[in-house]
Amino acid sequence: MPARLGLRRRPGPLVLPCPAAGGIEVVAPPLKPLAQAPGIGQVGSVKNTQNIAIIGAGLAGLTAAAYLRAGYEGEIVIFDKGRRPGGRLAARRHQGVLFNHGAQFATARNPRFLAWLQARVADGRAALWPETSINHDRYVGLPDMNALADAPISAVETGRHVSFAEQQGGQWYLYVNDAKLVAPGHVGPTGSRIGPFDRLILALPAPQAAAFLAGIGHYFAEPASIVTMAPCWTVMLGFPPGTAGPDILLPAHSPLSWVAREACRPGNRDASVGYTVQASPAWSRAHLEDDAQAVQDMLAREFIALSGVAADPDFTATHRWRYAQSEISLGVPCLWDEERNLGVCGDWCMGNRLESAFCSGVGMAEAILAHTSMSVRG
Ligand SMILES: Cc1cc2nc3c(=O)[nH]c(=O)nc-3n(C[C@H](O)[C@H](O)[C@H](O)COP(=O)(O)OP(=O)(O)OC[C@H]3O[C@@H](n4cnc5c(N)ncnc54)[C@H](O)[C@@H]3O)c2cc1C
Repeated sequence: MPARLGLRRRPGPLVLPCPAAGGIEVVAPPLKPLAQAPGIGQVGSVKNTQNIAIIGAGLAGLTAAAYLRAGYEGEIVIFDKGRRPGGRLAARRHQGVLFNHGAQFATARNPRFLAWLQARVADGRAALWPETSINHDRYVGLPDMNALADAPISAVETGRHVSFAEQQGGQWYLYVNDAKLVAPGHVGPTGSRIGPFDRLILALPAPQAAAFLAGIGHYFAEPASIVTMAPCWTVMLGFPPGTAGPDILLPAHSPLSWVAREACRPGNRDASVGYTVQASPAWSRAHLEDDAQAVQDMLAREFIALSGVAADPDFTATHRWRYAQSEISLGVPCLWDEERNLGVCGDWCMGNRLESAFCSGVGMAEAILAHTSMSVRG
């Protein structure tokens, strides 16, 4: 669990202590427990027809969209720079072998997230992972973790890097680029100008949200920039069918922090043997800018030494998560600027897990719907 920023509750806006500014005003929605929050159908009786743009189709952005759709007749457009929705809910096939190279499993303390997971278990889109459910039940998507993203590719404008936003006449316009043609962290008014949108939601990892918000000159850049996120180098190793080895390793005092044999995941029917190997946050940070091949070689050697797997891998692939999990969280579900109609959500608002992303997305939707019902009534 990441540390939380010390928030002082006041009747009005929350105050985030910021060393540089000596405390900045952040308008955040009320901190009511999600389980007690009204259902979407209960919020406001009049449907809203305003358009919303969401940047980021990870679990936070997709959840915000799903909960907003119940209260909106307007269009909700989601942009993501990735090839498919899901963000860190990631899976890929290498030479026919499935690897879950992002989030490994979901745990749930929040009753709403638990109900959401259990509904997916009931209809076959998720399952319990008994081998790893020691202190808490752990859930996985079926056939892979990306299945928890729950969004058909057609629901998201994929491959679209949004680099800038500006407001004109109270409405938002986005600058949208082909993700293949811009540098990953690019911020600036390039590409096609798309709009208008009445509301804008950023559902990005904290450092990316901070850079975007700084680029458009919004004061939410300050709280977002306080949140640091640990990287994670991940290596995927494929072995011939029948290769013997452990199911799960949680190494201590090692460059590795997690090793999973993909075939021990519920629903995996691959004949070949795949291992997903994740480096610790400290090791990943120390080697963040190293050559990917060198990282791959080091982590593969470490895996062989720890696991005792005798065979050489048939193939190896590497993924660098620059922003894997937050080390500090804001302690609020999301940020919402009622005047500018701008919201920010993501796992880092509440924690560093899938549950945090889900709860942040729900909180974002509720903040907007609460405001909507007020403005519709008013
Ligand atoms: C290696 C790893 C292991 C993990 N293990 C676990 C685990 O076992 N259990 C657990 O609960 N959690 C785990 N997590 C954390 C979990 O994955 C996250 O908490 C959760 O997925 C975050 O969701 P999100 O929607 O907030 O962000 P993301 O999933 O990061 O979504 C943000 C989206 O924004 C998009 N984006 C960014 N910038 C732009 C832009 N300019 N324009 C358009 N799109 C943009 C990205 O492509 C991405 O799809 C793990 C994470 C990693 C990386």
